[in-house]
Amino acid sequence: MTDPERNRLRDLPSVDFVLGHLTKGVPHEMGVDAARRAIDEARALIESGAEVTRDDVARRAREFVDGALNARLQPVINATGVLLHTNLGRAPLGQRQIDAVVAAATSYGTLEYELASGTRGRRGTHIRNLVRALTGAEDAFVVNNNAGATLLVLAGLCGGREVVVSRGELVEIGGEFRIPDIAAAAGVTLREVGTTNRTRLADYERAIRPETAALLKVHPSNYRIVGFTAEASARELARLARARGIPFVHDIGSGLLRPWRDRPWLTGEPPVSETLRNGADVVLFSGDKLLGGPQAGIILGRSKIIDVLARHPLARALRPDKMTLAALEATLTAYAEDEPERLPLWRLAAVSQKELLARAERLCERLTEGASDVEISAEETEAAAGGGSSPARPLPSAAIVVATDEADEFAARLRMGSPPVVARIADDRVLLDLRTVFPEQDDPLVDALRSALAATRR
Ligand SMILES: *Cc1c(COP(=O)(O)O)cnc(C)c1O
Repeated sequence: MTDPERNRLRDLPSVDFVLGHLTKGVPHEMGVDAARRAIDEARALIESGAEVTRDDVARRAREFVDGALNARLQPVINATGVLLHTNLGRAPLGQRQIDAVVAAATSYGTLEYELASGTRGRRGTHIRNLVRALTGAEDAFVVNNNAGATLLVLAGLCGGREVVVSRGELVEIGGEFRIPDIAAAAGVTLREVGTTNRTRLADYERAIRPETAALLKVHPSNYRIVGFTAEASARELARLARARGIPFVHDIGSGLLRPWRDRPWLTGEPPVSETLRNGADVVLFSGDKLLGGPQAGIILGRSKIIDVLARHPLARALRPDKMTLAALEATLTAYAEDEPERLPLWRLAAVSQKELLARAERLCERLTEGASDVEISAEETEAAAGGGSSPARPLPSAAIVVATDEADEFAARLRMGSPPVVARIADDRVLLDLRTVFPEQDDPLVDALRSALAATRR
């Protein structure tokens, strides 16, 4: 170490000095933390030969504080083409859903109250009636999410006993949700039958014993087993369960309320009412997947079973907030009024590929004005349902494609822009898939792309 370096180290400011240069009102612990980080960083810089003044250190500390204060949930433009992107919040809500949330949040309401009798009512009654009308279910119960629904059903219906499930259906949905882990947490023993690729009805038949509490079928939402395969159908399992006097539980993952036959990308997603018609005693699904609503877990089924679940202590632990229930009610109302395209999910999904391509071409024209080294084009792409739905079935779409030598850097620049844009990278090119971009986001998207392009050309 040279003498000037030693002097610079000695001149590093104290934590108190840096604290004195922060904006008033910064929480003390946050200020101390930022000051320490700034001083540590300055020490490392000096040791590597750089010059750092005391003012530089104070400025860095202020930046750390700003960063900590501004790290918040913020809107992004989803240009990934994944409609139900779990990391980006799955289904966006529409105006009527938001209005319902605001009304529920800002006022007292009939959350658990019967106006006619002036007595306590059951939370979720309004939704129960809507769901019954829409699906033909005897009864319904709503919890925080589908993982919670699975936990409640297993614990409430099968706790301390065995549940028979196929080895081909021991699903993991993104890290934290694994059927075997949920079963263990619910105090249920999974009795696995069949093999990964083939499970027959006879495998379930042989496995049923006095300890068996239910048969469970889980929709392989985010994977497909192809090739030499066999599975027992939901209808066969329902019949077997009935004959043996045990319930059949079907976790269908995504709550497809409308069996749109003209949308091939939905093939393989079991519609809710069909699942009930096939004889399931209990059906579980998420509120924020193909239903297009808020995060929730919806349990449909026989009144007797739902009553047992509603009284279980876990039901209280997993109960949804009034804002969730309000958004869910508005979501179901859109189906009841035969206007699912009021829901942003179905509005985005309904646009034709031709229309998306034309839009991508128009946006490209705006971007290539004065452009040079970076190649920008409009192309047909394949978008996806996501959120653990239809993994094998792409949704025809179109994208703005940016061909640059630095795809990763370009995508990072878009993410760090304002508003942040999350793109997809394929074959070293950056794709901005319009399937998931709202038309009113076209102008901000063009602005964000222009900034990123300008930084690239510099
Ligand atoms: C997505 C999914 C879950 C988990 O649902 P969350 O609402 O995310 O908790 C459970 N089971 C299946 C089959 C799923 O697809």
